Amino acid sequence: MAILNVVTEPADILLAEAKPVTKFDAKLHKLLDDMYETMVESEGVGIAAPQVNQSLQAVIVLMNIDSEEEEEILELINPEIVQYSTDTNVDLEGCLSIPEQFGDVERANGVRVEFEDRFGKTYKLEAIGYDARVIQHEIDHLHGVLFTTKASKMYTPEEMADMFGEEE
Ligand SMILES: [Zn+2]
Repeated sequence: MAILNVVTEPADILLAEAKPVTKFDAKLHKLLDDMYETMVESEGVGIAAPQVNQSLQAVIVLMNIDSEEEEEILELINPEIVQYSTDTNVDLEGCLSIPEQFGDVERANGVRVEFEDRFGKTYKLEAIGYDARVIQHEIDHLHGVLFTTKASKMYTPEEMADMFGEEE
């Protein structure tokens, strides 16, 4: 596996519609393995292929990070959100491609997603709360949408430090 370069804005690929995955081959599997390693190295909770300069509809999300349950890695290939809950919540988001910027984003509290795994097998999934937020953020990347365009409020590094305390 390898750590990949994370594309940061401004970059055209971050604003582009990603291409559907059609080949579920060793090349895709290597990309997914590398994306995972890159996400862990960057301390992210999700990563989308366009963020490592690949125009492909593939994301990795870390589930259960705010719950008692064990963390779970989920690979979503050609994912589509087929239903959004009507109830929403507002929470803080950041992005590996937009370093040191954080903002409040309103998201659906729950989503239903159809997707394929790395072998092309089709699945359906329901997620709520923070899991649903991570999924929505990462799938937005496949459609060239960044959280900064949806944020109702952005915070300066100073405001972040005031809210969460200085690091070190
Ligand atoms: Zn992001």
